[in-house]
Amino acid sequence: MSLSEQEQIICNQIDTLKDKSVTMLGDLVAFDSQIGREHDAQRYMARAFSQMDMEVDQFEIDHKLIRSLPGYSPALVDYSGRENVVGIYTAESSEQSGKSLILNGHIDVVPTGPLDKWRSPPFQARIQGDRLYGRGSGDMKAGIVAYTMAFDAIRRSGYKPAADIYLQSVIEEECTGNGALACLQRGYRADAAIIPEPFGQKMMNAQLGVMWFKLHVSGHPAHVLNTAAGINAIEAAYYIFENLKVLEAQWNLPENKHPQFDEQAHPVNFNLGQIYGGDWTSTVPTECEMDIRIGFFPDIGLGDIKSDIEATVTHAVEHHPQADKLDFEIRYQGFQAEGFSADLSEPLFEELANVHKSISSRQIELMASTATTDARFFHLYGDTPATCYGPIAENYHSFDEWVSISSMIEVTKVLAVFISRWCGLR
Ligand SMILES: [Zn+2]
Repeated sequence: MSLSEQEQIICNQIDTLKDKSVTMLGDLVAFDSQIGREHDAQRYMARAFSQMDMEVDQFEIDHKLIRSLPGYSPALVDYSGRENVVGIYTAESSEQSGKSLILNGHIDVVPTGPLDKWRSPPFQARIQGDRLYGRGSGDMKAGIVAYTMAFDAIRRSGYKPAADIYLQSVIEEECTGNGALACLQRGYRADAAIIPEPFGQKMMNAQLGVMWFKLHVSGHPAHVLNTAAGINAIEAAYYIFENLKVLEAQWNLPENKHPQFDEQAHPVNFNLGQIYGGDWTSTVPTECEMDIRIGFFPDIGLGDIKSDIEATVTHAVEHHPQADKLDFEIRYQGFQAEGFSADLSEPLFEELANVHKSISSRQIELMASTATTDARFFHLYGDTPATCYGPIAENYHSFDEWVSISSMIEVTKVLAVFISRWCGLR
């Protein structure tokens, strides 16, 4: 299906807005919006939404309201002063003829890692050819720019969507998802949701579950002269982690794979992300704590995953040569995120695939994500079919993160044309 005249006008408008899009992305990258520091970036988004004549709902996350909801993950940082921002467009009731839409993006970014590994400062956009470098450029500030400019281009072209549209800028996607959960709790629902995560313009059809936990191991202290008298908690913790890696290998066996992850060699990953332990080089360490992230397939409940983890750790400890001197505790904190697989017969997927083809002249590719995204909230708890579709980017969660500017512009066009077909235009 080729573009209608109306859609062509909107796409031309997006080309005209290219410099504005790149400027907005540079502005957003300049905010260091790591966990707990999202405020200034969110204020910028509130202004961007109000400049497009949207109603703005800027609200602090209320822990009391979300902590007993399904999908909640134990918080890492206090929520006071930490806000979500939603831009609301309401179609006049006499003109409501299309389907409503949520476009969601997360404003939070992950830490930079060692600054000396970056070729330029992470919170300063650097453009080289088609690439814009900076922390959060791809994951996922370019996606936020894309949905903002898509809506702006429709307005500037003189059209009005014929259904409600919500532009959500949320916090905490990278550690709990409680920002998206708070939007859900506040009542936001629509006939579909798209999250422009940087998945190379592929359409997400499934995502793994992700769980974070702390494994605390304690042993016995001793002087290094007689290390046999003590038990080294760091070594013991690492020994337990190696046993968990055996569980990871089992989950990745062909017979255990979820069908939508069939083609991926190693979809389930256990990551030992942080480790703390010891207080003196010549003392056998008594305490060790590990922060571990595990992935798991859709359709498996959190309770079953916890049972497997606890059984594996218990078994490992019991078979340790000094089992009697070893103690452990597991605490679940951060992501407690179930996976999901989507039903591709939902109109959302067909429509998005068609629009992608109209704009790019390429068939859309599907992708099953081995990481979690906020799409789970819409899909599992919000009765809102959801997917991710966003620009080409690389090195997110690493140094020298970049996003393709031309891909961001193409995604902007896809989102704008999607709005015009899904919501209808006047
Ligand atoms: Zn992301």
